[in-house]
Amino acid sequence: MRLLLVGECRDGRLAAEIAELFGFAARLDAEVSMALAGLADDLPAFDGRLYLADLETYGEFSSGAHKRLVLAAVEREQPDTVVLLHSSYGWDMAPRLAAAMQSAQLSGVVGLDDDGYVVESCNGKMLRTVRPQTPVAVLTVQPGAFKSPAMSGQPEVIAVETLPESAIELVGCRQPEAGVDLTRAEVIVSAGRGVGSAEQVALVEALAKALGGEVGASRQAVDAGWLDRSRQIGTSGQSVSPALYVACGISGAIQHLAGMKGSGFVLAVNTDRDAPIASVADLLVVSDVAEFLPALVEALEKR
Ligand SMILES: Cc1cc2nc3c(=O)[nH]c(=O)nc-3n(C[C@H](O)[C@H](O)[C@H](O)COP(=O)(O)OP(=O)(O)OC[C@H]3O[C@@H](n4cnc5c(N)ncnc54)[C@H](O)[C@@H]3O)c2cc1C
Repeated sequence: MRLLLVGECRDGRLAAEIAELFGFAARLDAEVSMALAGLADDLPAFDGRLYLADLETYGEFSSGAHKRLVLAAVEREQPDTVVLLHSSYGWDMAPRLAAAMQSAQLSGVVGLDDDGYVVESCNGKMLRTVRPQTPVAVLTVQPGAFKSPAMSGQPEVIAVETLPESAIELVGCRQPEAGVDLTRAEVIVSAGRGVGSAEQVALVEALAKALGGEVGASRQAVDAGWLDRSRQIGTSGQSVSPALYVACGISGAIQHLAGMKGSGFVLAVNTDRDAPIASVADLLVVSDVAEFLPALVEALEKR
């Protein structure tokens, strides 16, 4: 099997999750090549051909130019499958590529089974196994679903000159206002929907304070307006790797797990002993957060 992986840069660097695309390829025992708008001194380490467009010229998110870069690589490599991250870059690029190649497109692959690709549906509540019916397919891989392998090797770089598409002019990019940086926190106590209300978030804040940590959040807690979006952990939030991660009333959807899978010790507090968070927790306390969190804070303060 031949895969063409599509790389992605953020803030001028190769996105860390790109390594997971190689993990996906390894599971399929596939031969890989890559297309990337990137910088010559920040390339992924692998043995294969790398079709490289200059990041300085084409920018990180110029879908017209990047599409042409990938299509040029597709023409040369004739892959069975084009693989992108399930990120805002991948969401934009995958349908463009699939339309141009008249190929099937699968979004958010989280696993492989004997019959095909496993993708999420209904906001992660259901898994479907699907198989593309076209000779070439385009798919996006959910960050966190496949392990990053140890990267080694040196790609053969093939410089590709692409012309920006005139249909879209990239006027500029700007960063959202700086929020809290949770990436360096040693302890994070996160609130999920199970915390129940904005007022109850105080219980989570009290535990974070007692442990000298930061407060994080699931997307549901952010969408409910209980905590600022800059505290969201997961595929559409921050990726964190604290020594201690406490998940309070968080079910453990794959999009959340993707952002905290690098944590050291994971303590989960949940009323449901079968919640998916149990699969990554070192310790699961089956309890109502309203009972357990104040008791834990009291015990810590006594110490
Ligand atoms: C494209 C996309 C991107 C996404 N990005 C993210 C992301 O970056 N981060 C993210 O978190 N999610 C993300 N999501 C959403 C994700 O799929 C889940 O919906 C979300 O993580 C669920 O949040 P939650 O665990 O707080 O809520 P729920 O799934 O509703 O879970 C609540 C949990 O609390 C427990 N509970 C209820 N009451 C109590 C109580 N009194 N005490 C203790 N436990 C209790 C329940 O048993 C349950 O397990 C994304 C989804 C999509 C489709």
